[in-house]
Amino acid sequence: MEGQFNYQDIIKRTVMVVDDELVNREILGAILEESYTVLFAEDGEEALAMLGDNSNVVSAVLLDLLMPKLDGFAVMERMKADPKMSDIPVIVLTSEKSAEVKSLRLGAADFIKKPYDEPEVIRARVDRIIELADSRMIIKSAEWDEFTGLLTSPFFYEYGAMMNRYNPARSMDMLVLDVEHFHLLNELYGREFGDKVLLALADVIQKYASEHEGIAAHKEADIFMLYIERQPNYQYLVDSLMLVLSGKFKNARTQVRIGVCPRTDTDESLEKLFNQARMVCNTLRGQYSKSVAYYDFEFHKKVMYSERLIHDIHDGIKQKQFKVFFQPKFGIQGDKPRMESAEALVRWVHPELGMVSPGAFIPLFEKNGLIQQVDYYVWREAAAKIRQWRDAFGITVPVSVNMSRIDMMEPKIVEKVLSIVQEFDLQPEDLHLEITESAYADDANRIIEVVDSFRKHGFIIEMDDFGTGYSSLNMLSDLHINILKIDMKFIRTIATDPMNLRMVEMILDIAGFLCVPVVAEGVEDEKQYALLKERGCSFIQGYYFSKPLPEDEFERFVKERAAQTDAKEV
Ligand code: C2E
Ligand code: MG
Ligand code: MG
Repeated sequence: MEGQFNYQDIIKRTVMVVDDELVNREILGAILEESYTVLFAEDGEEALAMLGDNSNVVSAVLLDLLMPKLDGFAVMERMKADPKMSDIPVIVLTSEKSAEVKSLRLGAADFIKKPYDEPEVIRARVDRIIELADSRMIIKSAEWDEFTGLLTSPFFYEYGAMMNRYNPARSMDMLVLDVEHFHLLNELYGREFGDKVLLALADVIQKYASEHEGIAAHKEADIFMLYIERQPNYQYLVDSLMLVLSGKFKNARTQVRIGVCPRTDTDESLEKLFNQARMVCNTLRGQYSKSVAYYDFEFHKKVMYSERLIHDIHDGIKQKQFKVFFQPKFGIQGDKPRMESAEALVRWVHPELGMVSPGAFIPLFEKNGLIQQVDYYVWREAAAKIRQWRDAFGITVPVSVNMSRIDMMEPKIVEKVLSIVQEFDLQPEDLHLEITESAYADDANRIIEVVDSFRKHGFIIEMDDFGTGYSSLNMLSDLHINILKIDMKFIRTIATDPMNLRMVEMILDIAGFLCVPVVAEGVEDEKQYALLKERGCSFIQGYYFSKPLPEDEFERFVKERAAQTDAKEV
């Protein structure tokens, strides 16, 4: 594999010629300028100053010994003592045999005799010394991935950084390539076969890298990286990779994903570019119509916003920036609609970002394992309110709280919720627990176990977002829920789309058969309300009655309800 990849071809190196005599500088300059960028210094002091600024780009120094101000020996001594320069090979330019031993002691890598030899000889010596120095550096990191023959990531990063130093102005892109459902192919056709496919992909990637003055690495499993000169688009690469995949698997639904992060800031490390390319690559998961995504300014803004939220969550909780709103649920089968309970919905009133809706932070915190902190806080706030209202108005208004799928995986979740109920001297049935339907798809056994345990303690379980997952029917027979909430996507068009109305009727039928009352979410107008009432839906939650309200505004409903109860009792 090594033979296929010659970095001399990609990078124009820089060498420095240090000589006080103009004619010598000119001769060497003329010999070297074709293959190298050449820097010139007239004496030792100037050489060290220039090296100080350019130590990371200079691949070799051609150094005269006899010079005014600071001679060549002193320059070598200083270079040796400076860790930034000590690895740069020095080729001594000398006419005196006697100087060689001293030069060697000071670490000279080679000599070029004055008067100068044939230009080819000089070029060959400089080439060889640089190659030797490079391979010393390369050997430090195991450079080739044994399996694919591409670079390993440490070397890829190191080498990419070197490309940036030599060519800071070149427009470069970092690409992350990933195969959708690769693990499935492994499972279906065996590992050996999967390996063959990876090798075929690696070949295409390496070829593309060579053709576009870039480098390629095998990161892990089915993930590859490319660092190449920016291309107007990557369709050709996608097509070539897809050709490999479709040739190997006629029936399987595989797809290549490519995340592209353009290098815009010269200070950015390759590792960072890789992470950004990977982030944007992950957004392509499950999107069959799109194979390439760019880490652009819009995406960057979103990432920064998410990072900000993650960073601020701790203070947010400590400073009580999270506010619990309450949305009433009305029973609609009596003479008059009556508020029966409420749902607790969290909002983040961020001191600088303003009101942040749960849609913006709940999925994010679920991914980052931070949701439990928020949920625990909301459950306690909700329990505290139930208790306060009971004390103030003499009635208990049950409140349902949302449980994230992550909460359900916590080993002591039941004890945790139970302790909140006990802390506020409530009954478990006062706190309803909303569990989203899609959690069941993640880990059905665990959800069944937790729901059963909650039920045994007397909690009321509401199935949230019913109809949006894929498991609806068998889930209903496995999970012993108390209340079913039809997702608002069905309600939105029940008055206009007969198909959706029919769906809602069927859900109501099934729920009736199971003796489980139904809450319709997102009811916004009279028509929807009337249709649902006629068809026997028990509860309604939606803007038609009320939006989610801050606790003090919600109290109005509690007072009204308390008055209704009093009136009945009189
Ligand atoms: P959800 O549990 O299904 O809550 C119902 C959502 O529908 C709420 O959105 C509510 O404001 C909105 N909604 C209610 N009635 C109407 C209506 O008539 N029209 C329209 N267009 N919308 C209506 P919200 O508050 O933005 O919450 C979104 C989701 O975030 C919730 O969906 C729930 O899954 C999650 N969530 C909210 N609070 C929490 C929490 O404390 N913990 C967790 N884990 N998730 C929460
Ligand atoms: Mg809910
Ligand atoms: Mg819902």
